[in-house]
Amino acid sequence: MIELDGAKGEGGGQILRSALALSLISGQPFQIRNIRAGRPKPGLLRQHLACVQAAIAVGGGAAETAARRTDGEDARLGDTELQFTPGKPRAGSYEFAIGSAGSCMLVLQTVLWPLALAQGESTLLLRGGTHNPMAPSFSFLKHLAPCFSGGGDGPALFELELRRHGFYPAGGGEGLVRIQPPPDGLAAIDLMQRGPLRRAWAECLHAGIPRGVATRELGALKTAFGWADDQLLDRALRANEGPGNVLLAMLEYEHLTEVFASYGDKGSSAEQVASRLVHQVRGYLAHEAPVGEHLADQLMIPLALAAWQGRRGQYFATGLSQHALTNAEVIEQFLPVRFVMTPVGSGDRKGVVVSVET
Ligand code: ATP
Repeated sequence: MIELDGAKGEGGGQILRSALALSLISGQPFQIRNIRAGRPKPGLLRQHLACVQAAIAVGGGAAETAARRTDGEDARLGDTELQFTPGKPRAGSYEFAIGSAGSCMLVLQTVLWPLALAQGESTLLLRGGTHNPMAPSFSFLKHLAPCFSGGGDGPALFELELRRHGFYPAGGGEGLVRIQPPPDGLAAIDLMQRGPLRRAWAECLHAGIPRGVATRELGALKTAFGWADDQLLDRALRANEGPGNVLLAMLEYEHLTEVFASYGDKGSSAEQVASRLVHQVRGYLAHEAPVGEHLADQLMIPLALAAWQGRRGQYFATGLSQHALTNAEVIEQFLPVRFVMTPVGSGDRKGVVVSVET
């Protein structure tokens, strides 16, 4: 039984999600205490419980996979301890609904790799938030799907289709994901260079908020980056998809398209929303590493799994967050791999090359 302390490092939901995924893949049960101890509302929130339930479903259902409290009852909202005993992941058609505006992309994060290594294709219908702060957005995963599949020209391991946007607090988003396990196993991830910049653009997604907000957000980006009108897309969504607003920037290089997001909220002006995005994009443009902060922690599982299958890779990241460091520790507890993180460069260009030893 692997013992995990959810208070370690970042102390967030990622420890649980990575553990669920890796337990299903490796067949090793785990016990976690202090779930999300580093967060203002610790324990399992609806979004995390949805991840646990999705892991049970993918692991053959309650007959084969169990997620129990210390008193032997099934896991519930608010729990801070959990014992998980995995069954074998099964490809199939699944429907997972968060039941709140919590991110359904985080449910995908939990079951993606177990299903990517299962026998046969899977289809997931996900309901909940599709564009949430503190989570990969649908747009992020859509543009970065090729990187998770090892880059190159081969088919992406997963494809996403957005049916309806979902924002906090209303939720109601819906997306379809098709996962196709590569017949020869996972490809090595090799992302050491961006290659030339081919295109840069912004999209302002908005629903049920005053129209002037989008014009002001995009106007601020125009001033900051000098982008032309055809690089500034005003994407008004159906009013019933809102209220919601996210300002996205996409930088498409030869080897990847990085995605940056800044979310509108009641306490921020349109200019503040834009300025948060400008800050992220400027930081990335000043650097040369291809892998941004969020992609860096999300690539760790596929990097480790491919190495475990004999395909060692590496990537160059702008830096590693506490998130990434905690994730590496969790992965090392489940798989016979050791992360090697080598600092490179200096000043604005200081980054880290991440690889794994088996
Ligand atoms: P909490 O414990 O508060 O619920 P959480 O469950 O949201 O936290 P975290 O531990 O904060 O989970 O992990 C969030 C995940 O979302 C990480 O993988 C991180 O890389 C990703 N993420 C956060 N912001 C972005 C972003 N702007 N773009 C892409 N991915 C993001």
